[in-house]
Amino acid sequence: MSLAQISATAVLCQLLEQEKPEINGHSLLAGEVGHAGRDLLRERLLVMGPSLSYVTCPECGIELARVVRELAHENILLYCDECGEASSPRALRETYKVNLSKFIDYLMLGLGIMASAKKEVNLNLAWRMGVTEPSRGKPLTWYFARHLHDHKVAHRLVETIRQDLAHKSARIITSSELPLPAGSPLIGFDVVHLGAIARISQSKFEFFRDRVGVPVSAMADEALHTNTLRFVRTEGKAIVDGVEYFLEPRQKNILLALIDSLHHEMENAQLRSACGSQADTFSPRKVFDRNTQVYNRFIKYQSGDGVYALQISEEDHDWLI
Ligand SMILES: [Zn+2]
Repeated sequence: MSLAQISATAVLCQLLEQEKPEINGHSLLAGEVGHAGRDLLRERLLVMGPSLSYVTCPECGIELARVVRELAHENILLYCDECGEASSPRALRETYKVNLSKFIDYLMLGLGIMASAKKEVNLNLAWRMGVTEPSRGKPLTWYFARHLHDHKVAHRLVETIRQDLAHKSARIITSSELPLPAGSPLIGFDVVHLGAIARISQSKFEFFRDRVGVPVSAMADEALHTNTLRFVRTEGKAIVDGVEYFLEPRQKNILLALIDSLHHEMENAQLRSACGSQADTFSPRKVFDRNTQVYNRFIKYQSGDGVYALQISEEDHDWLI
């Protein structure tokens, strides 16, 4: 495990807890956090924000100095009322901000949840990421939220979880320091700090399996099921009337998209993008040409609403609501 990766995650959490998740280029790339800053840039978790017109004067460290103009060699000329002219590296006026959307995408990739399941539940502060089932019959509904020390943000998240009927299965990842303050509406919920369960890897977060719950191989349990989608994610198969059907990648993607979406309903275009099809006339039924039993049992087109709805079997009620 690389120390640099851990500290990139730690720096990211600090940024996420700021009012605006921004940092100037000098603080980001110089000093202690420099290598972490470069990791975050390389992973495109930080994007360039607007350049500052005023920066804290590097000479006195107190006054605001005006940026006068660019100089050669990545330097800039500053003017401070106390110190007069000074030059400094250009990085001092550059700002970087966390790309929140990409950040959530990377978390979801690490959890193995389809990007289409993402739902922002509180602007720039909280997201519902989707459902996984690391051990059979024990689904986890994943949320990410920042600023959870603000009771209003926490309260809003609790309301969302109740609306999602996920109060038993919710697991909340946060960048906020734990434990949460006394009186938090989230006391009693499963809240974990991002740095404790994952680290930034290449274009995703890598979760420490022992702390998330390893997907349980359900071999011995399969005989107990007649109609279920619970093995789609882990083993790529569905069971219809006691018979196993192994899914083609596109079939699996369609089912996972429906499983992960909030109401288990999707439009044709959404399913098309979920399985990466470029076809002009996309037909989910056609994708299941070689597994029509699975389609007929689990997917139903509702012409009134123009959506494809998941048909949840009774034995999947414990994890798919
Ligand atoms: Zn000064």
